Amino acid sequence: MLTQGIEPERPRDVGSHTRHRTWMAVLCAVGLVVPTLLGCGLEPSRNIVVITLDTTRADRLGSYGNRDGLTPNADAVAAEANVFEHCVAPMGTTSPSHATLFTGLNPTEHAVRSNRDRLPDSIPTLAAELQKAGYTTGAFVSLRSMIQTAGLDRGFDHVDRFEPKPGGKRGLTSLVREGAATLASAQSWFESVKQEGRQPFFAWLHYYEPHSPYVPSPYSREMLKDYRGKFADGVGVMVFGNGRWMDSEQETRALGVLYDGRVQVADQLVGELLEGLRELYLLDDAIVVITADHGQALGDHGLPGHGRGMWQSILEVPCLIWDGRDRRPYRISERVGLIDLTPTLLELAGLPALPNVSGRSLVPALRGDTLSPGRYYASTKVVASNKARAPVEIDPRKPYEIAIYEGDLKLMHGDAGTALFDLSRDPFEQSPLPVSTRGNAYERLFALVQDHFGEEGTSADVAPSKDFPEEVLEGLRALGYTD
Ligand SMILES: [Zn+2]
Repeated sequence: MLTQGIEPERPRDVGSHTRHRTWMAVLCAVGLVVPTLLGCGLEPSRNIVVITLDTTRADRLGSYGNRDGLTPNADAVAAEANVFEHCVAPMGTTSPSHATLFTGLNPTEHAVRSNRDRLPDSIPTLAAELQKAGYTTGAFVSLRSMIQTAGLDRGFDHVDRFEPKPGGKRGLTSLVREGAATLASAQSWFESVKQEGRQPFFAWLHYYEPHSPYVPSPYSREMLKDYRGKFADGVGVMVFGNGRWMDSEQETRALGVLYDGRVQVADQLVGELLEGLRELYLLDDAIVVITADHGQALGDHGLPGHGRGMWQSILEVPCLIWDGRDRRPYRISERVGLIDLTPTLLELAGLPALPNVSGRSLVPALRGDTLSPGRYYASTKVVASNKARAPVEIDPRKPYEIAIYEGDLKLMHGDAGTALFDLSRDPFEQSPLPVSTRGNAYERLFALVQDHFGEEGTSADVAPSKDFPEEVLEGLRALGYTD
């Protein structure tokens, strides 16, 4: 476990990375290599590691106020990192949210609106841009459909594909693997990258542990040792579907503890990953991002999981950016989005910005500048786009499906109605602003929502995967993705 930050010891030898750079400098000087950003002594490029924790609410991390000690490793990173206190996911769905993270585009723009859509080949990705610039790129993902069918494998030299265990169950176990296996593959790749001098590298690590099913962890067994309810042996995937457990405080608490136990397991895997990099002296100059694709309602506002609803428990994710060159801790209170990470990382890598992205670089915030209030969109499947025709009365029995954030204001809309919240005063979204205090923000934000979601058209070709193997579909259904 990392308890003292992730500061590595100084390497005893200069390492192949430095030797490679020295030879490149000589070749550049004599004109044998075309000068590039990577080769000839402009901004030296940095190793970049993006860790996505599936289904991880921001409020489960100690650095976001949690006091249960679930995430000591992420907290050790946060103690030396830029902590973005409010980061918005664009959807409570895995592939669309990751697609936004890796393109800087909204789901309405990149066209991945469900776990069954494929990112069009025409859309640039972070990995592809870094690869073009000479980065060695590797993806280590615990949910097979994301790399097999969602198109998020594009731009990676090495994609750690895995097949279902022979004779194993179809469905769930065919699509997901444990984080320990994902980590082991990543570690051997890091070793080979180091040995062969193929730096800088970009690695994407994805852990699925906080997603259901919840196998009890040592933490949750201890916390629930006196509990004899229906979740005593853990929880399958579909428990979220009926939501009947929400009627019981005891069952809701037990489910939360099981979830916390899985978050803790994911955090241990984060610690082991960073420890492995530290031992290889690959961390010193690196940039490490720890974030999540979406949260989990766990009974918040009467919702079970994460596919429906626009509440903060589903959309607010952790976002830590650790910069090996500047480890002063810094907290950024302005709202940002997963959509900002690709522009940010490209700038940190010294590469040109992508044209026509909707995300913005957060590098000014890393330097201590104040960010202007950003505008962020979120939604469930955007196929319901024409629902934004007119504001409607609130019906608490139904979920919201669309949201827009502007600073601390958040407008939600859907079958539940239309409601405006001020998150600075009401972070748990208990009472929509009454008409008398909302000024013109309600109408203005609603017009923006209409503009963004009102038409089905997008700049990208909507390209649902046509070649989804039946076993992948079966696996997605087993994970509760029934669309
Ligand atoms: Zn997910």
